[in-house]
Amino acid sequence: ENITHILAAGEVIERPASCLKELLENSIDAGATLIDVKIEKGGMKKIEVYDNGKGIHPDDIEYVFERHTTSKIKSFEDIFNIKTMGFRGEALCAISSVAKVILISKHLEEEQGCMVKVEGGKVLSKSFCPFKEGTRIVVEDIFYNTPARLKFLKSPSTEQKYCLEVVEKIAIAWPKISFRAEADGKRQIFTPGDNKIESVIGSIFGIEIVKNLVEFSLEKEYLKVWGYFVNPTLSRATRSGYHFYVNRRYIKSKLLSSCVDEVFKNSVITGRFPIVFLFVQIPPYEIDVNVHPSKLEVKFRDERFVYNTIYNAIAGSLKSEKL
Ligand code: ADP
Ligand code: MG
Repeated sequence: ENITHILAAGEVIERPASCLKELLENSIDAGATLIDVKIEKGGMKKIEVYDNGKGIHPDDIEYVFERHTTSKIKSFEDIFNIKTMGFRGEALCAISSVAKVILISKHLEEEQGCMVKVEGGKVLSKSFCPFKEGTRIVVEDIFYNTPARLKFLKSPSTEQKYCLEVVEKIAIAWPKISFRAEADGKRQIFTPGDNKIESVIGSIFGIEIVKNLVEFSLEKEYLKVWGYFVNPTLSRATRSGYHFYVNRRYIKSKLLSSCVDEVFKNSVITGRFPIVFLFVQIPPYEIDVNVHPSKLEVKFRDERFVYNTIYNAIAGSLKSEKL
């Protein structure tokens, strides 16, 4: 039983950054407007996430660590109509089976907070405690019981970089939420939560880039595409700065990369790349997000249509920019 949990954990939780990603998605699903992240030693010693979301009911709090416990899917149809970030009910189970976890939460309809400690998948204690609002989860000593996985991790500074990248990528998709992140006590990320993507881009990539953002958008049938690019001639990017989001989930996509490459192929000057923030809104049944457990890849039902719409959206703005 425990072994299968640990194996399953490996699929979802590969490193501190993947753990952090799952925690942030849970905070978003809980409707948080403020998310505060603290990591120590690249997340290998500690990953702490606080959110001011709706909280977890004390009756449910120890069960959220069980496999396939999710409050987000109620029926089989829901699987094809996924609107929340999480839906498998695997993350907390996976995390708690390979780390030492403390979860404190106050459900918005409850008077008191509740705290549980879980280690290696086992609930060690549960008690009521004062807590203002939301949820705090502290994940310590990740992979303490799976030395093989621990060995596979990179240096703390590299793991820290991965963690902060996760916060940045998610923050870009959620401009309404104020994200704060500190690493080893030092403030690294702060987004204001003023619901402006430009503010988030400015706070993460610097105000300079905001001045050069060119907007694009196009809506066609069921597909909505919008975002910003920085022209290769203005971007100082020496590698491709492509940021792709599908229904607010950041993804990697060869299809979208090749599409953007194609748009800019004539305006790329040697060694310079465009920076692109691309957001795609598409009905959940037009995509499959179950390709990979980390949900990093998306399969589009009609790839050609998606490609063409994105191409036209960006190429249209590029053309009018040049005029
Ligand atoms: P999933 O997100 O796929 O449902 P998880 O294992 O990530 O599965 O979380 C299990 C459940 O725990 C969630 O469905 C949710 O009900 C609850 N939960 C986890 N984190 C939070 C949070 N920060 N705020 C409120 N509820 C949470
Ligand atoms: Mg989740």
